[in-house]
Amino acid sequence: NSFDELPLDPALRDAVELAGYVTPTPIQAGTLPAILAGRDVLAQAPTGSGKTAAFGLGLLQRLDVSTSRTQALVLCPTRELADQVARELRRLAVGIPNVKLTLLTGGISPGPQLASLAHAPHIVVGTPGRVQKMLHQQALDPAAIALLVLDEADRMLDMGFEEAIREIVDQLPAKRQSLLFSATWPASIRAIGRSALRDPLEVSV
Ligand code: AMP
Repeated sequence: NSFDELPLDPALRDAVELAGYVTPTPIQAGTLPAILAGRDVLAQAPTGSGKTAAFGLGLLQRLDVSTSRTQALVLCPTRELADQVARELRRLAVGIPNVKLTLLTGGISPGPQLASLAHAPHIVVGTPGRVQKMLHQQALDPAAIALLVLDEADRMLDMGFEEAIREIVDQLPAKRQSLLFSATWPASIRAIGRSALRDPLEVSV
């Protein structure tokens, strides 16, 4: 059980080592083979399980940095969580030059976000309300988004983001990989999973 057994790009393997991660956590061991193979995954994983690196490594391995388009979208319940996810992604992306990431969270002025979207970030991490608004204003182009992550999906539903999530998902290309992480699995999560994911691998730890 080591990161060496996973088909990770050398730059990501080095970043994992630099981060001090020696052994994959159970959620990483359970989901990374499927994530790296391009499969949809529905994972029951609490905060602290290492889920961010699980989807982060899959996301970064898929990225084509030579293409200036938004290819990955991570939806989180709060600005704080989006900040944490962005920090972990940047940490794992140290060996990939020129990765552009934009945070789209509510409660702050949209001006700088609009300016940064004009440069077509490879990765967008945000909260559903603001992401929906940016799609609506055609500031965020969804056409090349090939990877969707719903992080802490149960908290997003608790905060009333179900409709926003559905509207966002409807605008994404059908041909994409989707990953859903949730600490709990109520019926509403299963319903989102059924509509947003295709033949997902279900993993719980
Ligand atoms: P998360 O559940 O994604 O919020 O991660 C919880 C914490 O575990 C974060 O501080 C990560 O940096 C750390 N972490 C993630 N993967 C590993 C790993 N394989 N070994 C040790 N720490 C890790």
